[in-house]
Amino acid sequence: KIRVRYAPSPTGHLHIGNARTALFNYLFARRNKGTFVIRIEDTDTKRNIADGERSQLDNLTWLGMDWDEGPDKPGNYGPYRQSERKEIYAPLIQELLDKDLAYESYMTEEELAAQREEQKANGEAPRYVYEYEGMTKEEIAAKQAEAKAKGLKPVVRIRVPHNKVYEWDDMVKGHISFKSDTIGGDFVIQKRDGMPTYNFAVVVDDHLMEISHVLRGDDHVANTPKQLVVYEAFGWQAPEFGHMSLIINTETGKKLSKRDESVLQFIEQYRSLGYLPEAMFNFITLLGWSPVGEDEIYSRQEFIKMFDPKRLSKSPAAFDGKKLEWINNQYVKAASEDEIMHSALLQLIKAGKVEADPEPLKLEWARKLISLYKHQMSYTGQIVDMAEVFFEEPPALSQAAKEELADDSAKVVLEAFAKKAKALPLFDGPAIMAAIKEIQKETKVKGRKLYMPIRIATTRETHGPELGPSIELLGRKKALAHLEQTLA
Ligand code: GLU
Repeated sequence: KIRVRYAPSPTGHLHIGNARTALFNYLFARRNKGTFVIRIEDTDTKRNIADGERSQLDNLTWLGMDWDEGPDKPGNYGPYRQSERKEIYAPLIQELLDKDLAYESYMTEEELAAQREEQKANGEAPRYVYEYEGMTKEEIAAKQAEAKAKGLKPVVRIRVPHNKVYEWDDMVKGHISFKSDTIGGDFVIQKRDGMPTYNFAVVVDDHLMEISHVLRGDDHVANTPKQLVVYEAFGWQAPEFGHMSLIINTETGKKLSKRDESVLQFIEQYRSLGYLPEAMFNFITLLGWSPVGEDEIYSRQEFIKMFDPKRLSKSPAAFDGKKLEWINNQYVKAASEDEIMHSALLQLIKAGKVEADPEPLKLEWARKLISLYKHQMSYTGQIVDMAEVFFEEPPALSQAAKEELADDSAKVVLEAFAKKAKALPLFDGPAIMAAIKEIQKETKVKGRKLYMPIRIATTRETHGPELGPSIELLGRKKALAHLEQTLA
């Protein structure tokens, strides 16, 4: 029975990399009619942020994922927050202490730092050196009692066997092995504050929650041998592991890191720019996984049907913001009128271009404006800039635009158009286009020389959506003001 989990630490908002981990686990579970579990790893209390858990879950839901068990969906394996599982970890730590597979370590942070410094100075890899080397049981007990009497708080360390190899067949990377002597010595399983460490809690939880496959980021490869030490100490069988390739930012060629500001990395940011969840889902699925064919646009259901972890890529995944825009544009074009309306209207309201709860006439106007730009938007947030001329003082003319107007015929056309525009009984798209046709007859100017000056003078752009509706939506007053300004 397949049971997988996504185990976020609520130390921040949902990052692209984390969303990808969640998504592959989700797809794997749904593909195999397995169970998808969400577990909150919140034992690092200092790093947790107030809104972390809610924001993580909320954004997963927005992306279109659902889960079978989690903090908000009790199942048979709860609680699903590590901070609520202390009573589960404590006796297990005690069990290892009783069997002498773990011990209390009283070395202070300063002593440990000094040890690392010395190792560094000697050109050695930093590791914990057993503090009770060569001592008898009694000597150890005495030393510990002395430290305790001084009020020192211990950590608990697990014994890492010497000269062993920890290895597994990684679902993504193939066979991986670590020599036990390279993992840094006996490591901490319980911190001074009594909280278990990640490497301990994750094993206990994955075991008790009967997780069958652990699919996670590449950054956890070096944790896996430590986790295997814990599995071994308890005599538990480890799950299958798969470590997904890292993500490279194509802008910089470097590993995508949360500090990299050249690209937006949080789902929340894309969401607030008006990216569509289905497009984000599609894009993220292609980060390090590929379907059999050449196509790149698939629905969630299609991805579920196709998902095969064998097609997870060993080589780094390229994060390409341009591709994301392209994919989103495909979804914008295919989206229902209502969905785009809703999303783009919110963008206009958020930007203060349209007031909240607009009057019916204004609402109708905004809807027409949005449908005018629908096919050009990569994401709906772009409407704010694209439609700038409808809201702001007209921007100055570009050099290219000025050149277009340099021809004598431009002036003739614009003057004729201004006159007709003043006189039209109804200033709408069809009437405007009919007026332009009349100007063609009267002045014999046609084609580009006719339309371009009118487009530039009214909308200030050499490219743009359909001309008639654009001028209609500008409105007579604004259109005339722009014309006069251009003619002056
Ligand atoms: N809480 C860990 C993280 O956010 C999860 C690691 C794992 O999946 O084992 O990186």
